[in-house]
Amino acid sequence: MKLEVVDLSDNTNLWGTPPAARSCMHDASSRVSRYPSPYSADLKRAIAAYVGAGAEDVVVGCGSDDVLDSAMRAFAAPGDSIAYSTPTFSMIPVLARLNGLLPAEVPLRDVDHGYDIDADRLLDACAKIIYLCAPNNPTATPISREALVHVIQNAAGLVILDEAYAEFAGISYIDLATRHEHVLVTRTLSKAFGLAGLRVGYGVGAPELVSFVERARGPYKVSAPAERAALAALAMGDDGVGWVETHVQLARDTRERFRRELMTLGLDPLPSSANFILVPHTAAESLGARLRRDGVLVRVVTGLPESIRAFAAANGNALRIGVGPWPLMLRALELLGSALS
Ligand code: PMP
Repeated sequence: MKLEVVDLSDNTNLWGTPPAARSCMHDASSRVSRYPSPYSADLKRAIAAYVGAGAEDVVVGCGSDDVLDSAMRAFAAPGDSIAYSTPTFSMIPVLARLNGLLPAEVPLRDVDHGYDIDADRLLDACAKIIYLCAPNNPTATPISREALVHVIQNAAGLVILDEAYAEFAGISYIDLATRHEHVLVTRTLSKAFGLAGLRVGYGVGAPELVSFVERARGPYKVSAPAERAALAALAMGDDGVGWVETHVQLARDTRERFRRELMTLGLDPLPSSANFILVPHTAAESLGARLRRDGVLVRVVTGLPESIRAFAAANGNALRIGVGPWPLMLRALELLGSALS
């Protein structure tokens, strides 16, 4: 019998895709002989309405990876540095390297500071770009408004705030992007909106700033089917944004229930503001391998900074587990329970 694989490793929406986006994909093939609009004007308007900004404050891209990459190209030159917290989104060092940027890594603060960013040490790096992520991947922890404002007020260059998981936190700092000329907030339709395969991300910031990012990005980065599906997902109503809101709430409830169950197994998960949970454990690699053998994929994270006590106690190792429908979580819990006993 074929083993059904449960993939809890990439933090996508395991409940699926808004029905409005799914149904408009059916007739997408009739339109692919033509180019999409070069800079996705309709999509920018829809995103602006969703986040409460103006269309001139929005840049879109082929996933938010593309927006992050374009922002690095637009605001830093090879040999410049980029400061970011560790641990953070694993693509940041990769994109930094591709753009010839020098990483300045600053560990997050410990649990007594809510795993907040270390604002002063990030600023001390005097980097051309400071990258922040809230909720942070892989810790799922937020950034305090106080620390964020401190960074923004004192940064020497661009501040990027990656809000890929903001819907699950219920907190967004987009207001700071539209009020400061050197702040770019990036978001994505890959997570709460369930469209990871279509690759749609966006950035919000002051008009001049986003136009620099857009020029570094170039035209035709969002395909016509992707733009249509994104517009459908962003439309009001139960099949679009309503579906997203309902499933974000479900993800939040499931996350808390799953976290409680992890604790009853004797594990010590970090608190989560996202749709995944980080569970420090010395034996994360062998636990991850054991789960994989039985068809449940989770992300094994290693090399976590040991200045944080929970990570030091786990030799820098952890599992990052995505949250989805409860039967999937139950399967992960059962396997973890038997692996730990
Ligand atoms: N930022 C963070 C923090 C992420 O975790 C991810 C996806 N793993 C992305 C950005 C990129 O998302 P996408 O390119 O699919 O928009």
